[in-house]
Amino acid sequence: MGCIENKSKPAESVVKDGIDFNAYDVMEPRFPLKTPVERRNGRHVKNNDVPPQGVYLPNNNYLTPYMQSPEYVQLSTAAAITLGVMGGRMHRCECTRCLNLLLTYPEGCRANCAYCGLARHREADRDYADRNFIRVDWPAVPMADIVDIVSRDAENSPFHRMCISMITHPRSEDDTFTVLKQWTDRIDPAAIPVSILSNPTTMTRQDVQRTRDLGADIFTVALDAATPEVFDRTRGKGVQSPHKWSKYWEILQDARDIFGPQKFGAHIIVGMGETEYEVLNLVQELVDLGGHSHMFCFFPEQGSLMDHLPATPRDQWRRVQLARYLIDYRGVRVDQMRFDDLGRVKSYGIADAELSDIIDEGIAFRTSGCPGKFAEDISACDRPYGDSPPSNIASYPFQPKKKDIRKIRRQLDIPVRVE
Ligand code: SF4
Repeated sequence: MGCIENKSKPAESVVKDGIDFNAYDVMEPRFPLKTPVERRNGRHVKNNDVPPQGVYLPNNNYLTPYMQSPEYVQLSTAAAITLGVMGGRMHRCECTRCLNLLLTYPEGCRANCAYCGLARHREADRDYADRNFIRVDWPAVPMADIVDIVSRDAENSPFHRMCISMITHPRSEDDTFTVLKQWTDRIDPAAIPVSILSNPTTMTRQDVQRTRDLGADIFTVALDAATPEVFDRTRGKGVQSPHKWSKYWEILQDARDIFGPQKFGAHIIVGMGETEYEVLNLVQELVDLGGHSHMFCFFPEQGSLMDHLPATPRDQWRRVQLARYLIDYRGVRVDQMRFDDLGRVKSYGIADAELSDIIDEGIAFRTSGCPGKFAEDISACDRPYGDSPPSNIASYPFQPKKKDIRKIRRQLDIPVRVE
């Protein structure tokens, strides 16, 4: 079966001395090694100069064609299956509701984030278009083909949203504008709204405004790290990467001003060394600004500088998932919650019966992200198995069933409800 499950096995969760979370001291990335000159900046792909022919399915045994945005973009495996440009089926999902696009260049992303499969240090062993990212392959497809297919019947498209993921590259802004315009020229953003997953490092306030003017609906910042220390260690100086916490916040504030309430947000990865108290304070800060948080459970991406580290234990993840949902969508404040002296959630600030109903609804445990057409608190961006294998789901890309809720309750250490 062409399931999108990647063959890599997750590392075991750490439950040591009663500590059931990924502590800062444990989550130290490897230092990147030097890349040989002949592999730098996509030289390998440029020198081979193989002309692209339609869809390219990543395969490290083939010479990678010379493809680049804005003519080409990469799609998540789930989006490529749903669009019909590749075969395969997904575990317990018919399709994805978000068409995730990723800009692509032979040089790839010029940043070096420790948890990311697209990071620059990987040019030593894998061409950009062949790299796994959030556990799956990303086929490369001509942008014109994507627009042709979706524009045939945008109103009835399986996609409830499109999202352009920028990367760190000198052409990233201009090509984002071109791809966005190519889409909104042919597809009404009211039928399929567009989100921008930004790369603040090379952006200005004018760039943020331009994405709004060209028809984007929501603007998000991939903050990823929950504290300045974790940020610097995983995406800044710690790994020879150019990002700065302050610049990310500057662009986040610009997005708030330009896109307005509920139309901006930040991505956060849980379990890279922050405490539950720290990440939930960040969630509260975003809500107080008028935005949302979109969460990912840390998974040791194969080939990344953190692939030797443990995935976030499910109990840590479930506590944060539930608390984040209460803050983001149920009006509970972080200061109503209680934490132990290791920063773990001890109580959620609402009555047990109400908490129990919210757990049983299951929405809190679905993948979080920009909304689609079902409900404000149900993400179109369901990213099937982007942060876990199907055998031990972190973010549910579908509505959890009773058996899933029973498992979630065990992970939360909240007794199974007897009706
Ligand atoms: S900027 Fe984004 S794509 Fe580039 S290495 Fe960092 S997380 Fe990955």
